[in-house]
Amino acid sequence: MNALMNDIEVIKTKHSKINEVDFDHLSFGKTFSDHMLECDYKDGKWQAPKVVPYAPITLDPSAKIFHYGQSIFEGMKAYKDGDNNILLFRPLDNFKRLNISAKRLAIPELPEAYFMEGLKALLKVDSDWIPKNEGSSLYIRPFIFATGKGFHASPADEYKFVIATAPSGSYFAGELKVLIEEKYSRSANGGVGFAKAGGNYAGQFYPTQLAIEKGYQQVIWTDDNTHEYIEEAGAMNIFIRINDTLITGPTSDRILDGITRKSIIELTEKEGIPVEVRKITVSEVVEAAKNGSLKEMFGAGTAAVISPISGFGYKNEDFDLPKLENTYADALKKRITDIQTNKVEDPFGWRYKVI
Ligand SMILES: *Cc1c(COP(=O)(O)O)cnc(C)c1O
Repeated sequence: MNALMNDIEVIKTKHSKINEVDFDHLSFGKTFSDHMLECDYKDGKWQAPKVVPYAPITLDPSAKIFHYGQSIFEGMKAYKDGDNNILLFRPLDNFKRLNISAKRLAIPELPEAYFMEGLKALLKVDSDWIPKNEGSSLYIRPFIFATGKGFHASPADEYKFVIATAPSGSYFAGELKVLIEEKYSRSANGGVGFAKAGGNYAGQFYPTQLAIEKGYQQVIWTDDNTHEYIEEAGAMNIFIRINDTLITGPTSDRILDGITRKSIIELTEKEGIPVEVRKITVSEVVEAAKNGSLKEMFGAGTAAVISPISGFGYKNEDFDLPKLENTYADALKKRITDIQTNKVEDPFGWRYKVI
């Protein structure tokens, strides 16, 4: 591992942008750090990764990414604790999922060391870009796309793996009113919904725009076949609290295996909060909203960790969630971010120290 790490070539920028950045007023994912990791697949193998200055990428107009959408990504965060340690959260799970996505899109799988050692080399070079303010982090975006040329509809023979990073403030979406989708689908059995494939998000934008026009902020995806089961909240997994039990749907071809989702399941199981992984019907949630047993709904994903939902619309009816004093959403978000930022013990071994 170390031998490889020493091999990672670093070409430093001559024009650091760091003094232009106001670290006290960062938005989410709009400011980019000085460097990126770049690694090309050609001649049948992944070539050595390099850290290079952050810069535009030039592609041939026939590059297959433009035509056939071979594009996958990951989302993760780096934090700095009070002792300036650089910390990641379950990074190997992101690496494994990147390769799960790669396989489904016929993209060659990436060696673990290229991802992990490449990421560490990048974080060391851009260590000053990791914000220390409460709630801030360095958002990390690893992605792979087809650079190979040709209009033939077949997998490309060349790809590029890049890790770009963005110092980001806390991701606060504000009040989240959601619309339970009755027509459009994010994913289907046998499809690519379990992969973080770029096209999945392109397909979400239009139905989400329609929901926004109706006064909602996000769509709650239901199963493509019957639209009777609740599956995800936008690009997040969803949790529903009925009385004191937390419920989330089982992962499948259609539901992405979120790292935040599985961390919440493990945390609640350990703390003795009743948690059920099972199918959730729209009618049971509507019923629970009507009889007062619906206590909370929230989305779960790396960017926001947890996004509380304040109400939902379904079949031209709106339902408000109660405003509780002590929510699972707040408690779980605090617990997870405290583990991520090294403020509490990590009995799960989730925290990963880079240096
Ligand atoms: C990324 C993503 C999630 C959340 O996954 P995390 O690993 O928790 O960030 C959930 N659903 C979809 C569709 C996603 O793309």
